Amino acid sequence: MSTIQKLMEFNKQFVEQKQYEVYLTDKFPDKKLVILTCMDTRLVELLPRALNLRNGDAKIIKNAGAILTQPFGSAMRSILVAIYELGAREVLVIGHLGCGMTNLDSKGMVNKFIQRGIPDSVISTLENSGIRMDRFLRGFKCPEEGVMHSLEIIRNHPLVPKDVGVHGFVINPETGELTLISEDNRPEMAQ
Ligand code: ZN
Repeated sequence: MSTIQKLMEFNKQFVEQKQYEVYLTDKFPDKKLVILTCMDTRLVELLPRALNLRNGDAKIIKNAGAILTQPFGSAMRSILVAIYELGAREVLVIGHLGCGMTNLDSKGMVNKFIQRGIPDSVISTLENSGIRMDRFLRGFKCPEEGVMHSLEIIRNHPLVPKDVGVHGFVINPETGELTLISEDNRPEMAQ
């Protein structure tokens, strides 16, 4: 059976046996949290468990490295939707130890594109039209640096209201231990 067939088979039973019932909730985050974190597989179940998050508690946005690259990109848009449309009051950016985006080798990745059959000419056409691979495939030196970079963009964003707290953490992907990197204590936060 292929991966997709297995997945569909399981899903059919999941629905038939009403296993979804324990997860029923609504779209508004009960703990008023929006979290930007990494897509790392070790965090799939560990992160919600380690933060005591259940279905319905938080909006969770994931990408490689928990990195915000652009103030008007899709991750930032998701954060704004969580704040304005879904009632989130705190933004948590959670990087992790041993992240694959630490010192991401952009040249090495371009070589892999070519090995997998992407023509050289495609890379040069992209470069010539302003898509710089070293920027597009940029990681960070350490997870703390990545988190601080994302925090800076969110905290200084012209559309993020000042009464929203924006905090940074690094999580251990084995033990789930959370280290606070930067707590938002802007004066507007005092309530
Ligand atoms: Zn990661």
